[in-house]
Amino acid sequence: MLKIEENKSLKTFNTFGVNVKANYFTSVASEKEILEILQSKRFGSMDKLILGGGSNILFTKNYEGLVIHYVEKGIRLVEENEKYVIIESSAGEVWNDLVSYCVDNKYYGIENLSLIPGTVGAAPIQNIGAYGVEIKDVFESLSGIDLETGKKRSFKKNECKFDYRNSIFKMELKGKFIITKVILKLHKEKEFNLNYRDLNNYLGKANKEKLTIKKVRDTVDKIRTNKLADPKRFGNAGSFFKNPEVNETTFLDLKRDYEEMVFFKLDRNKYKIPAGFLIEKCGYKGKRVGDVATYNKQALVIINMGKATGEQIKMFSQEIQKAVFDKFGIEIIPEVNIL
Ligand SMILES: Cc1cc2nc3c(=O)[nH]c(=O)nc-3n(C[C@H](O)[C@H](O)[C@H](O)COP(=O)(O)OP(=O)(O)OC[C@H]3O[C@@H](n4cnc5c(N)ncnc54)[C@H](O)[C@@H]3O)c2cc1C
Repeated sequence: MLKIEENKSLKTFNTFGVNVKANYFTSVASEKEILEILQSKRFGSMDKLILGGGSNILFTKNYEGLVIHYVEKGIRLVEENEKYVIIESSAGEVWNDLVSYCVDNKYYGIENLSLIPGTVGAAPIQNIGAYGVEIKDVFESLSGIDLETGKKRSFKKNECKFDYRNSIFKMELKGKFIITKVILKLHKEKEFNLNYRDLNNYLGKANKEKLTIKKVRDTVDKIRTNKLADPKRFGNAGSFFKNPEVNETTFLDLKRDYEEMVFFKLDRNKYKIPAGFLIEKCGYKGKRVGDVATYNKQALVIINMGKATGEQIKMFSQEIQKAVFDKFGIEIIPEVNIL
């Protein structure tokens, strides 16, 4: 029997620490329970929000519907040979626990994605990425339930439309499908991706024969801990905006004025540039308005200094978007899901 709570505070269920309420809230640990909700007279047709760790959501108002907190755990080895393993993880697993499991077993592929907050089920939604690796690089398939029809469905990699911090689940299927299982393919042969600048600074010169997966994970953890704001101290959702992609003319204009700007060339006429750099050049690094601020070590992170409301955080983010557009003519788009 499902336990449904009414008028539930979501303050501890979102890493911004915003104090909003959900009309109804339930923790669910199986597909069977999802189907029970979908078939129920009272909740079947009600608006629903799937919540994982709440580390990529900004609530600007109370949620007038049912919040389904998916908590089913479990990691299973599906297939193994000399070269690779296929593992299946339930959506409610903590992503970083899955990374630990892979590191402990020397399954290579997701060690660069260490310490990213949130659940396994949410990881494909925005194709999580860090230090030159994205989940799509090791992704096989996922399965779950269509919230409108109640039917089970699986998606292979090419059906997920993975892109930079994006997928079909953040576009046409947004809010319409609950992911319950994720299947990944990891290497058993030693293989690292150390190309990303920060990681390369630490490990570029390391003896590759002696380098271990544990060392790579620990290094990523160290870099992240130094650079990012800990949600336990300052409410935040990591990078608030995506890094914009610009054409060559815009890129060269910028590079002329800011020689030091780092960039990533995507193709002949497309460059990805750091949104945090643009925000900083608009004078917003460490800027505070009331209880909302940008993090003083990384302007891309917006933080709740205490009692900020979601609406105040959203307004501050819009002020930043406007400042960047006015100065550079570049639109920066939120990575965070604003509700
Ligand atoms: C300090 C910090 C650092 C971060 N660093 C990174 C980083 O390096 N790289 C990166 O990519 N992201 C990063 N993030 C963002 C965040 O960790 C990821 O987006 C993560 O995958 C969100 O997981 P979650 O379980 O918290 O999702 P939630 O915030 O709970 O949900 C996010 C979205 O996914 C939907 N959703 C959640 N679970 C499911 C499910 N099972 N089925 C269907 N829909 C679902 C929700 O409805 C919502 O729309 C960071 C966040 C923080 C706070």
